[in-house]
Parts: sequence; structure tokens; C-alpha cells
Amino acid sequence: MGFMDFIREVGCNVGLHDWSEWVYVSAGGCRQSSKCTRKKCKEAREQLAHSWSKWIYCGPGPCDARRTCERCGSEEKQAIHNWDIWKRESPVSCVQVRFCRRCDLKDRERTPKSHEDHDMRPEDVPKVTCYGRLGKCPRCSAWVAVPFHFPQHDWGPWMESPKGRIRNCGSCKETERA
Ligand SMILES: [Zn+2]
Ligand SMILES: [Zn+2]
Ligand SMILES: [Zn+2]
Ligand SMILES: [Zn+2]
Ligand SMILES: [Zn+2]
Repeated sequence: MGFMDFIREVGCNVGLHDWSEWVYVSAGGCRQSSKCTRKKCKEAREQLAHSWSKWIYCGPGPCDARRTCERCGSEEKQAIHNWDIWKRESPVSCVQVRFCRRCDLKDRERTPKSHEDHDMRPEDVPKVTCYGRLGKCPRCSAWVAVPFHFPQHDWGPWMESPKGRIRNCGSCKETERA
């Protein structure tokens, strides 16, 4: 028995039907159906297939848009804004804001999360710790950390202790046990 024969034999039992093309159920509606074409199977499926027009601005607000299905007349509405570019909210802030060019709505603010968002140069993070570099943002004055991928401890020599071998970092309080 070939593979296709095998599929024909067991397919419908495991959900591998041989579906017909989608056809509209009614002239003015958008429901489509498709049936399994194998003889003993009565399986059928349905889907909605609207023919949407383009989104058009139609009010009442400047950004309220609507589209209509050309078959069934269904309507969908949503606000489509035309966002301006992101700008810092003030010369002493790293929070970025943007507004809609059409209705002036303010989008959700972008708060800085990394030194890149603060636009900091290497010389702005001069303080080196075991875990990364630290510095104050020249624009918004926030303390910003630039973490290392791996901590860089200044390990002293291994020492024997009652609990086993330990070593201490010369810069922070970290201790490591062997
Ligand atoms: Zn079937
Ligand atoms: Zn429709
Ligand atoms: Zn808008
Ligand atoms: Zn900043
Ligand atoms: Zn350390």
C-alpha cells in the first residue's frame, strides 16, 4: 500500500481530510464552507471571508477610520494615527515622546532603559565596579549602570578555612568557595 493510499484509508480518522475549495454559503454573506471530498466522510468546516474596502477617515475624530465589507456590509472601526518622530520631552530629560500629526494625541512615553537610551559615551560611565561601569547621565542626571556580561572580580589567593577553600574579592564583598 502506497503512502497516499494509506492517507486515504486512515486520513479522515486522524483529521487529515481531503478538503474541497472554499465556497460562499450565501450570495450576500461572507461565510464560506468546505467539505471533505472522501465518500464516507461527512466532515465540513466554515470560515468568514470578508472583502474589506480600504480604511477611510470618516470622523467624528480626525483619526477615526472605518472600512466596509463589499459583500455583506459589515463595518469595522479603529483609530489610525499618523505618528510624528520620537523626541526627548525636554533638554534635561531622556524620556521620549511622540504625538499624532492629525489629532495631537500623545503616544505612550518611552522611558530610558539602558545607557544607549541615555545616549551616553564611554567617558560618561567612568566608575568601574566588579559588575560593570557606572556614571551619571549628562542630560537627565540619572545614575546609569552598564553591566559586564560576566562579573570581573579582583580575586585574592585561595585560603584554607574550616568550611573548605575560599577566596575573597579585593574590590567588593564577594566570596567564592571551592
Ligand atoms: Zn474526511
Ligand atoms: Zn463580509
Ligand atoms: Zn491621531
Ligand atoms: Zn539620561
Ligand atoms: Zn568583586
